Amino acid sequence: MEQIYNFSAGPAVLPKTVLQQARDEMLDWHGSGMSVMEMSHRGNEFISIIENLENDLRELLDIPQNYKVLFLQGGASSQFAMVPMNLLQNKTQADYINTGEWSKKAINEAKQFCTVNIAASSEQMHFTYAPTQDQWHLDPAAAYVHYTSNETIGGVEFNWVPKMLDTHIPLVADMSSNLLSRPLDVSLFGLIYAGAQKNLGPAGLTLVIIREDLLASPLANTPTLFNYQAHAKNNSMLNTPPTYAIYITGLVIAWLKKIGGLETIEQINISKANLLYDLFDTSDFYHCPVTKSDRSRMNVPFTLKDPSLDNAFLEQAKDNGLIQLKGHRSVGGMRASIYNAMPIEGVANLVAFMKDFAHKNA
Ligand SMILES: *Cc1c(COP(=O)(O)O)cnc(C)c1O
Repeated sequence: MEQIYNFSAGPAVLPKTVLQQARDEMLDWHGSGMSVMEMSHRGNEFISIIENLENDLRELLDIPQNYKVLFLQGGASSQFAMVPMNLLQNKTQADYINTGEWSKKAINEAKQFCTVNIAASSEQMHFTYAPTQDQWHLDPAAAYVHYTSNETIGGVEFNWVPKMLDTHIPLVADMSSNLLSRPLDVSLFGLIYAGAQKNLGPAGLTLVIIREDLLASPLANTPTLFNYQAHAKNNSMLNTPPTYAIYITGLVIAWLKKIGGLETIEQINISKANLLYDLFDTSDFYHCPVTKSDRSRMNVPFTLKDPSLDNAFLEQAKDNGLIQLKGHRSVGGMRASIYNAMPIEGVANLVAFMKDFAHKNA
């Protein structure tokens, strides 16, 4: 099999050793005679899988005891509704930071449930930066403050955690595309959510980390499956959880622990991102639109000097085993997603190809 490097934004690359282990355990998990796909979610075997995942995740992220970890379905998009449905409680407004396509979707969904105050926005600058906190105009009556810690499409990342001046107002973050890419102080957040298919595992699993005091009554008529408290009370077994995605995510978390945890992966991620950003800074053939301090370590968008070369770039990249580099349809250009599981050789090969392509087409 030819070596391929897959730069897809999601579903995205998984660690090869994880896929090999899943292959080896496919038909018979740990002598059970069953595939994980065939197991009852309430049986001892699967309970041990989900408990190990939770324990490893708590250890890796140092999740405080007063936080619940929920393993849900519906994707990060379902959280765009679940967050207001559950966290508004007696309030009628919420603060949102608007930094790109994903925050816009979260905002539009929240508008169905409350008055949204756009506390800061980078829209007037085509979503090319993360507004610093002195530009945020928070509303003291807001039920919570929501931001997208990494804009997967625009490649804008908050390389800092906002400080809540009013500690009674919870900070909520969509971390779908950068959770577990670096150490994180979970205690600064009321709620963190992430779809698994970017940096954690396969599609189908949605992770929610929520401070226990926020597990209060949701809006009237909230469906049970949209109720955090109901999921928490039932240990994410209110209905059938996405068992196979949970199993694979467990293998990914174990892999992260084994290679040295979040400090180690952060250093690797910085090295990988620098390979690409250094190229942009030394070449006028490629351009990255994002403000330097807010460049994402996970999703690296860039354009070629001459967009008529885009198709040739993508085709020749593919011939070199470098795939899924086309930018999102809403922004065009290119995007290299270099999540935890992308090996540094993949990025080095991409950079070598890009230098060669620039040289030949200068
Ligand atoms: C991919 C993504 C989503 C949507 O995830 P789904 O699981 O497809 O609903 C939301 N937010 C961010 C930041 C994303 O990258």
